[in-house]
Amino acid sequence: MFRVDRLSLLCLPLFAALLSVPATCQSASTAPAPELHVFDPSLIDKSVDPCDNFYRFACNGWFQRNPLPPDQIAYGRFTELFELNRLHLKQILEQAAVPSPTRTANEQKIGDEYASCMDVDAINRAGLTPLQPELDRIAALKSAAELPAEIGHLQTIGVNAFFGMGSNPDFADANSVISFYGAGGLGLPERDYYTRTDAKSVEQRKQYVDHVARMFVLAGEPESQARADADTVLAIETRLAKASLTITEQRDPQNLNHPTDLASFTRTLTHFSLANYVAATHAPDSGKMNDMEPKFFAEFNALLGDTPLDQIKIYLRWHLLHAFAGTSLPTAFDEESWHFYSHVLNGAEKQEERWKRCTSRVDREMGEALGQVYVSRYFPPEAKQRALEMTLAIEQAMGRDIESLDWMSPETKAKAMEKLHAVMNKIGYPDKWRDYSKLEIVRGDALGNEERSSQFEFARDLAKIGKPVDKSEWMMSPPTVNAYYDPQQNNVNFPAGYFQPPFFSDKEDDAANYGDMGSTIGHELTHGFDDQGRQFDKDGNLKDWWTKQDEQRFDERADCEVKQYDAIEAVPGVHLNGKLTLGENIADLGGLWIAWLAWLDKAEAAHLDMSAKTDGYTPDQRFWIAYAQQWCTQTRPEQLRTQAETDPHAPDEYRANTVLQDLPEFAKSFSCKKSDKMVVAKPCRVW
Ligand SMILES: [Zn+2]
Repeated sequence: MFRVDRLSLLCLPLFAALLSVPATCQSASTAPAPELHVFDPSLIDKSVDPCDNFYRFACNGWFQRNPLPPDQIAYGRFTELFELNRLHLKQILEQAAVPSPTRTANEQKIGDEYASCMDVDAINRAGLTPLQPELDRIAALKSAAELPAEIGHLQTIGVNAFFGMGSNPDFADANSVISFYGAGGLGLPERDYYTRTDAKSVEQRKQYVDHVARMFVLAGEPESQARADADTVLAIETRLAKASLTITEQRDPQNLNHPTDLASFTRTLTHFSLANYVAATHAPDSGKMNDMEPKFFAEFNALLGDTPLDQIKIYLRWHLLHAFAGTSLPTAFDEESWHFYSHVLNGAEKQEERWKRCTSRVDREMGEALGQVYVSRYFPPEAKQRALEMTLAIEQAMGRDIESLDWMSPETKAKAMEKLHAVMNKIGYPDKWRDYSKLEIVRGDALGNEERSSQFEFARDLAKIGKPVDKSEWMMSPPTVNAYYDPQQNNVNFPAGYFQPPFFSDKEDDAANYGDMGSTIGHELTHGFDDQGRQFDKDGNLKDWWTKQDEQRFDERADCEVKQYDAIEAVPGVHLNGKLTLGENIADLGGLWIAWLAWLDKAEAAHLDMSAKTDGYTPDQRFWIAYAQQWCTQTRPEQLRTQAETDPHAPDEYRANTVLQDLPEFAKSFSCKKSDKMVVAKPCRVW
């Protein structure tokens, strides 16, 4: 659960299961490009000097060919592949949706869930009726003493009520799974949206209150009542937000490590019966638990003590409506939710087609049932073999890089090498598929299916408490175009969906594949040694293995990157946050560097003629171009602002240019001069 993802498009924050993600990340769009390549000379704009703006040089052709579709907040090469995968998933789902006695149990579930989601007429006809039992439960609450059980129940059906609770390996003992309690309960993307005082943020809060009010009106409240209730929601969420850590503070696992136990945690929650909450959620007691943010839970407790029950009910009603607005409630709710989260916050002009959202929904709910079919059709064993070979080559290159560092002591190097050698590589899909037999999917019951899917996932997650960690488990579904490193398991995970053009191709040469997919493999490996990952040892325990002097030298190097990214103005008035993006920036630079080293080895072993040009470029130039072309992305200014404020990844333009500016080897390949923009006086380098 404590992990780092590579891409922003798919929006997977740390502790994603604990901090329920607001629907701000709708992506993807129209028909995918006909043929995709890793290195694509037709995307290059020769009128741009590669030493002036390499991103523009490598991507302008792509930009010209790919105007931003109206239903997109950003559209790039990741989206191209994401869309292609989604089209494949749609075909699988449409087949599975045809009732037939020969369907397998999994096909019945994914097919009927897809059909239920697609049946907008039935959803509109039903109105709020399917949600009425839940609305009635909240309305019937008679005293604050009943809240713990109700909050627990709402969380099991996927409602972001006040906080998050889930299983996670103990920071001190990565082999033992305990319960983690984390801050949550917000409707805006993250806590600073409630505290910033600039004009744009003030306006966004006003628009948020308007949105909440309109949702209440749709649920049957008179206008004036709805407005007052929306103000109540904002007031409660603002208190929660102010007591929460910033997203930058959350990056340091030490800030999130506060071991406690049921008795001690119970004593701090004087207005909230933890016993009743635990009974409602059926959370096993593993003895130890983690109160990730004590300040937040103190404020939550105080809030329950001094807020009238009627106001708490309003807050819960809002989060209930919000949780199901996407694809389970009538169109009016769906459109209202899209309007605020995708249009107002991120600039989308049109809503995605229904089939796309329903496909993504089934992937989210039953990703391994869908993924099993996907893998059998679209992930050949040869792709897995080549991916594994690349991963091993890049691991070896990283080992040689660590050995050659001039700033690290032999003592720390030995520990780093131990950790590197202990990294486990997971490629494609799980060895053992998830069992969905206990999940009931009823055709025609979209809302009930969504509730039961959340309950199934909640129970599956909690069942891990008190058991040894299952390192074979995956946090991403096989069709996902993304990858992650898990610091508590010390493993890298590359889903099958990623190993396709434009990121990887069996038909293209090593320069293209190492520049692109190789840099991603390097990126994930380097996460084990970024500002966050380096705090975990080879077994995944949060344990310092650095000498003081090496730690200081690491921090000095990291600080160079913090300053470099702090200086970038993403949209007028909004700079990138160098500390928030540090881990990703370290991984980008280190990952590309070790992919380069690994590729040089391959080239040398193959006696590659480094001066021979293909499509007009030498092999080393092709390596850098393939790297930059993976980042070709069009982004709306609204989304760019949201990204700068919330995303640990820098926008794609800088993931290309800023990283390359730090590598003199790149400048050498294109004969760039000191005075050129792609050359900086003092390049940063950690790994
Ligand atoms: Zn990453």
